Amino acid sequence: MGTPARGGTLCPVCLRPAGSGRCHEHGPWEPHQLLTRDDRRRAAASPVRQPFEPRVQACPRCLGEVALGRLGFHCVEHGHSRDGHGPYRVDELLGPTAQREAALHRMRLARRTRARRDAQVIELQSLPWPDAARTARLLGGAAVIAATLAFLAR
Ligand SMILES: [Zn+2]
Ligand SMILES: [Zn+2]
Repeated sequence: MGTPARGGTLCPVCLRPAGSGRCHEHGPWEPHQLLTRDDRRRAAASPVRQPFEPRVQACPRCLGEVALGRLGFHCVEHGHSRDGHGPYRVDELLGPTAQREAALHRMRLARRTRARRDAQVIELQSLPWPDAARTARLLGGAAVIAATLAFLAR
């Protein structure tokens, strides 16, 4: 899809694709504020703690704690990893209102992901059934062929 491996593409609030940093509802964003697919995966795998308590300011990519460094604010938890969060200017951090909405969207994403995973587990557990159905279909097909042959032979 032409998405670069580095650099985010998703709105930090609603996690929807924000083409060139513009989300219809929440944009515009600077490129380094956008969520990468890894960020999204991380958000999907780790449910937001409940009840959600917004910080005064939070990392737009993970809603985590930020600390002021030499170059600006960086994410305490993810600031120094390979694809580090930040540094951000103070007005690039998420305030409490945006954090609440962002947390809501992340919660929904995590719930959807969990539901999909559960559905897959159920599918795996019922694997013998599709096989049985296919066998029945094959037998049904054989019966039709036999009937056709019988009809032709008359
Ligand atoms: Zn958005
Ligand atoms: Zn972060």
